[in-house]
Amino acid sequence: MCGIFGIFGNSEASNLTYLGLHALQHRGQESAGIVSADGRTFHVRREMGLVQDVFGARHLEALAGRAAIGHVRYSTSGVSQHKNAQPLTVEYSLGKLAVAHNGNLTNAPQLRAELEQQGAIFGGDSDTEVIIHLMARSRAPTLAKQMVEALAKVQGSYSLLFLTPTAIVAVRDPHGFRPLVLGKLRDATVFASETTALDLMGATLLREVDPGEMVVVDDMGMRSSRPFPADRPTRCVFEHVYFAKPDSDLFGASVYMTRQRFGMQLALEQPAAADLVIGVPDSGIPAAIGYSKASGIPYDVGLIRSHYVGRTFIEPQQSIRHFGVKLKLAAVREVLKGKRVVVVDDSIVRGTTSRKIVTMIKAAGASEVHMRISSPPTRWPCYYGIDTPRRAELIAATQPVEEIARFITADSLGYLSVEGLGAAVGDPESKTFCMACFTGKYPTPIRNVEDEAPVRAAARG
Ligand code: 5GP
Ligand code: SF4
Ligand code: MG
Repeated sequence: MCGIFGIFGNSEASNLTYLGLHALQHRGQESAGIVSADGRTFHVRREMGLVQDVFGARHLEALAGRAAIGHVRYSTSGVSQHKNAQPLTVEYSLGKLAVAHNGNLTNAPQLRAELEQQGAIFGGDSDTEVIIHLMARSRAPTLAKQMVEALAKVQGSYSLLFLTPTAIVAVRDPHGFRPLVLGKLRDATVFASETTALDLMGATLLREVDPGEMVVVDDMGMRSSRPFPADRPTRCVFEHVYFAKPDSDLFGASVYMTRQRFGMQLALEQPAAADLVIGVPDSGIPAAIGYSKASGIPYDVGLIRSHYVGRTFIEPQQSIRHFGVKLKLAAVREVLKGKRVVVVDDSIVRGTTSRKIVTMIKAAGASEVHMRISSPPTRWPCYYGIDTPRRAELIAATQPVEEIARFITADSLGYLSVEGLGAAVGDPESKTFCMACFTGKYPTPIRNVEDEAPVRAAARG
């Protein structure tokens, strides 16, 4: 998972990209990078870490030019690696090229093996490099045509920003899994994963880059084309559930209001006899407010989140280890004491965090804890760019709801239904959104599965 930003036609391009990436920081905290173009050459900075730590004033000053693209990278499994930090930059037959990718190519391992057999040498292990190699091998005469030829071979999800010394090209896969919007800042053209980045700098939203659309921006203006065979768009519903920032408009709808609707629907489907509704910060809060509104049970703040625990936080020594979730969340005893509490969270993945949260709320004096989840049970891994664990580690893949309730030590547990989720995003029949992590119905063929049989069977269905 990642966030991408690009701007063409502003002398403050790298400063604005820095701001844009800062607004998209929630989409990736592992590494950050900006590549700027000054008409002749590139200026590059990519490092491990948060946007504010990677870029200082002198770096931004050195990133000269009127065009730039940037990337924040999400930690996927395994070690953090500098060689995978983006935007990637290459020099090939048509000149310099940089690329920033949000998504995951499901047939990258196969394509990579083929390319390596043909002599290609890869510098990192990200799937994005496959696109560059495919382009380099293309005999098409222009960059745009090479991109189309390369992208026609890949499957999976991609929202991409390419930078050349004189242009930006934005492309979104025909399913439109990951978001990408187009905006204007005076004369400049802006691209961003989420509208929150446009709002920060006072840019106006024009529209989404459509699924399957390619947009080229250079000194001659902006040109749009639809070079891929039309496919049914299946935007990622989990962006609304968890990933996107609540102040963003995502796929044409407010994330905050959508999360509230999830919570309202959840209250109708999974009522509870309780005195109080609380949300698990941050992503469970809007749904908790929705649950409260629909149920009439008062909302209060029962959990406080520390904003100072980075993902690199090291617990000091063995004897005081396993503080776990307490480093991030603290329970408000005066709010919870003696109460029957509905706790709303967005999802349960492994169940370990939820178990700690329930334990913490009970330790603070709650008499009952009724866990309510504003999405259906997560039963299938995501192959389109959200970093979910293997199927075996998804508690809902192997355990019925009652068993999960017992494991997390809740007095009751209730999930939103797939139909309720669909209704809240205006897609009651799961036709325009991907919901595969809840249903197992993958919108594209899935080959690189860990649990071959079940996922394959579902992928065909
Ligand atoms: P669990 O109880 O499964 O251990 O943790 C559930 C929590 O994980 C929820 O609060 C949910 O917000 C969070 N969560 C869901 N998806 C993701 C994800 O992709 N990355 C991270 N870091 N947390 C997630
Ligand atoms: Fe989103 Fe889930 Fe589909 Fe992945 S599987 S794209 S997380 S809805
Ligand atoms: Mg959470």
